[in-house]
Amino acid sequence: MASELCNHVRVVVRVRPTTEREKTENCRSVVQVVDNHMLIFDPRRRTHQVLGHKESETKISPRGQTKTLIFGEESTQDDLFKGTTKAVLDGLLNGFNCTVFAYGATGAGKTHTMLGAQNDPGVMYRTMTELFKRMEDAKEEKEFTVYNEQIRDLLANIGPLAVREDSSKGVVVQGLTLHKPKSAVHILEALDSGNRNRTQHPTDMNANSSRSHAVFQIYLRQQDKTASLNPNACVAKLSLIDLAGSERASATNAKGARLREGANINKSLLALGNVINALADPKNKKTHIPYRDSKLTRLLKDSLGGNCRTVMIANVGPSSKSYDDTHNTLKYANRAKEI
Ligand code: ADP
Ligand code: MG
Repeated sequence: MASELCNHVRVVVRVRPTTEREKTENCRSVVQVVDNHMLIFDPRRRTHQVLGHKESETKISPRGQTKTLIFGEESTQDDLFKGTTKAVLDGLLNGFNCTVFAYGATGAGKTHTMLGAQNDPGVMYRTMTELFKRMEDAKEEKEFTVYNEQIRDLLANIGPLAVREDSSKGVVVQGLTLHKPKSAVHILEALDSGNRNRTQHPTDMNANSSRSHAVFQIYLRQQDKTASLNPNACVAKLSLIDLAGSERASATNAKGARLREGANINKSLLALGNVINALADPKNKKTHIPYRDSKLTRLLKDSLGGNCRTVMIANVGPSSKSYDDTHNTLKYANRAKEI
């Protein structure tokens, strides 16, 4: 099981371009993208960390892990979509639950990657456009129904959403409205307004720091039109997730409720890392997978592991200004990669 699973977990790294501010402040670059599969962190140091290096490849290749893909500063939204999520749609159309999530510190480019801008949409919109196109292409043979859910503030103190298990739909969030989108454009509109509503609290570190996980889920129901006696209906779920910033709460001078929120975020991100690790550890085949450790992992219980497809996008900034964040994100990605 574990060796099968490895082929279904893909880790990619995206390095965002240097900002004007980083340029004017003369920050040095701490990330060197050597090629599509190799990135050097802090190349000036004598003992630098290498991601995708031969040594770690030999460690993971016996278990069938594909190489980490690196997207440099010039990578486009389309590159990202084609290199990560397009293939995931094959899985979804074959009935597998699929998950794509963006991990990284605030300001590293998660929202840009997942949501993007109106004139340069990200993974979520491109995925929906492609899905509706593929449904159109297959409409003679199959009948499709799409439902979507947008889950905000999974960790917020206000109106906590309970995660529960439903016998037919798998893991669901209680109290959510289901929408039946007609097209990808409808979905983009919903995403955009949802994101503008997303609770954001000013912190000392970043006025726009995202303090919640934005989880966007699509249910795809498909049924063969030809086999009327044996309709063969199946439902698969796609989860697209813009995770909360991974920077430590202590670094943002947070107090009280904000500090607790930060601790919850850390807990859920840690739990996510632990689940991904536990799932793919060959020694851990039948033992405990710690899904219950956070709401996030409970929500994703039926979408990680087993026959699921998972893509983790690790977003990092290129400059010394985000040295620790970039280092921590690469360590998280590396840990997930060595599964
Ligand atoms: P996060 O969601 O991780 O906090 P954002 O996606 O909001 O980070 O990115 C921070 C800033 O950098 C935004 O102004 C965003 O438009 C910009 N940005 C991030 N990634 C890219 C990219 N690949 N190309 C151009 N601009 C980017
Ligand atoms: Mg964001």
